[in-house]
Amino acid sequence: RRQFFVGGNWKSNGTQASVRELCEQVLNSTSIDFSRVQVVVAPAFIFLQFARSLLRPNIAVSAQNCSLTGSGPFTGEVAVEHIVDLGLNWTILGHSERRNLYGETDDIVSKKVNRALAHGLSVIACFGENLQERKSGITLDVVARQLDSLKKGIIDWNKVVLAYEPVWAIGTGINATPEQAQEVHAMIRNWLSTNVSAEVAERTRVIYGGSVTDQNAAQLISKNDVDGFLVGGASLKPAFRVILEVTN
Ligand code: 13P
Repeated sequence: RRQFFVGGNWKSNGTQASVRELCEQVLNSTSIDFSRVQVVVAPAFIFLQFARSLLRPNIAVSAQNCSLTGSGPFTGEVAVEHIVDLGLNWTILGHSERRNLYGETDDIVSKKVNRALAHGLSVIACFGENLQERKSGITLDVVARQLDSLKKGIIDWNKVVLAYEPVWAIGTGINATPEQAQEVHAMIRNWLSTNVSAEVAERTRVIYGGSVTDQNAAQLISKNDVDGFLVGGASLKPAFRVILEVTN
């Protein structure tokens, strides 16, 4: 089977004290079979180095976003080059909060993905339909459109994890059911097979995000095409341990 993948997206949360506690009390003390699951946590930029210094080496640290521009006169931006310089290997891109609150279009996300991959980062690429789109029955069309756009930026599929995060499930406590997740994940794998290659379809991790908790993780992961999770709120709590251990 594909190696499972569990990401913790800490979003714009935390303090030095809470980051230390999560790293030391939860992540470093959890029994994880790293041959079965790859673990990546994404603190806010300001805590990246701090988290890296605290965490055991087999847990990777990821950015949550990168600038579309390189290093230079771009006040307030954090470039891919900065993440690379810290010795980090991962970034999340295209999160729905970036898309909906900060105006990131499919095109911007695809260009960011391209930049990150060109500089050697691995990317957790996020996409997913909103509630209105799901209600109108166009979920699979929306996801296909987002994948078509992402594909334009992807120069190395080995460095991409696809994160299906239905917007209606993010932070709402309403997770996709295992059947709903499986349906979309299977469609994504089918899309990969048709539009990239059978080999990439077989190899690429497709993870689910949206109200994943210690209560629903086991059922979700039991589905064939669910290769892991991108966890928001629950990754800030001791219960994250349960989600990490669910793949053991
Ligand atoms: P929640 O787990 O808080 O719903 O957030 C999911 C998410 O956005 C992960 O990127």
